Amino acid sequence: MMTPTRRSLMKLGAAAAGLAPASALAAQAPDRRLGYAIVGLGGYADVILPRFAECRHSRVTALVSGSPEKARRYAERYGVPERGLYTYETFDSIRDNPDVDIVYVVLPNGMHHEYTLRAAAAGKHVMCEKPMANTAAEAEEMIAACRAAGRKLMIGYRCHFEAANREAMRIARSGEIGRPRVVTAEHGFTIGDPAQWRLNRALAGGGSLMDIGIYSLQAARYLTGEEPVEVTAVEATDRSDPRFREVEDRINFQLRFPSGALANCVSSYGSNHNRFRVVGDKGWVDAEPATAYSGNRLRRLKDWRTEDHPVPEAPQNQFSAQLDHLSQCVMTGVEPIVAGEEGLRDMRIIKAIYLSAREHRAVSL
Ligand code: NAD
Repeated sequence: MMTPTRRSLMKLGAAAAGLAPASALAAQAPDRRLGYAIVGLGGYADVILPRFAECRHSRVTALVSGSPEKARRYAERYGVPERGLYTYETFDSIRDNPDVDIVYVVLPNGMHHEYTLRAAAAGKHVMCEKPMANTAAEAEEMIAACRAAGRKLMIGYRCHFEAANREAMRIARSGEIGRPRVVTAEHGFTIGDPAQWRLNRALAGGGSLMDIGIYSLQAARYLTGEEPVEVTAVEATDRSDPRFREVEDRINFQLRFPSGALANCVSSYGSNHNRFRVVGDKGWVDAEPATAYSGNRLRRLKDWRTEDHPVPEAPQNQFSAQLDHLSQCVMTGVEPIVAGEEGLRDMRIIKAIYLSAREHRAVSL
């Protein structure tokens, strides 16, 4: 087994793209705002749209919705001109709109693939929400399409831009808590209405793992800065519950990393969780809430005492930082820290988690 020194751990941390200082990229980008088209005006679009007000390099210039009335209402609120309003049917004509540089796909998971391909065909860069697609095969096609069109593809992994998560990554990968030995990451919520798309296999691609458990998977990967080599998983789903006729409820999984670090991950549609902890051989850091939209909090074990750990001041909130990151990458020709390949890695691991749960065996990656 590899035994990394503090120096090699620090090198690993610095090499991990997630820790690149965002300010350097911002300084290189011209003082311009790229135009975003938001596709799908649902719950998460409502979280994203107000955040353009705090962006330095991004603005919203188009909206795509099935409801023209809703699109007009949002256009008025966010200052989008009439010529920037599209339906799903007229979406492809976005190619003729020079005010749109980036298409942000905020649709149900099962539609990410189609709209990313259509956006790339229209010559636009793409921000696509998590999970990247329903399957790894779709994710591969999305990467290929954007590459062939010479356009950037980024996945909406906002936690890479969130101050508490970035600080936890820094601590975990710097050697300050020694070698990470065990990560625990728990994400879940009690899901309601059985008729919603999140419980429809074609639109969601799967259950809690695709929607919320993916945060546990991401945390295990960005906290260790490593890629898992083996997974085991166990699922518990009551198929007589009308919510879980098509998708799984709870699926817990374990990951083994090359350094020997282990992760225990919870993914649940039947209970509320939002936390992680990295335990090294010299201490630990944890977060709860860990991946919320705001108010994430850190604690550490220091000298055998548990202490609150201050979250460093960040120049931007996670949403604006994420939007500006892609704009800056487009303007400077740099690859996003969470490009399509990052989404694809998760899709492949998710496939292995489902396989492990189904066949009751460890799956090598
Ligand atoms: P939502 O149900 O609130 O909104 C979905 C939107 O898609 C609606 O405007 C709906 O009208 C539209 N739509 C178009 N065709 C549809 C169809 N056939 N069925 C259902 N809706 C259709 O969902 P949401 O919570 O906004 O999630 C959208 C995406 O954003 C998902 O991929 C989700 O995983 C992701 N998301 C990410 C975060 C995050 O923190 N990064 C948070 C929430 C959601």
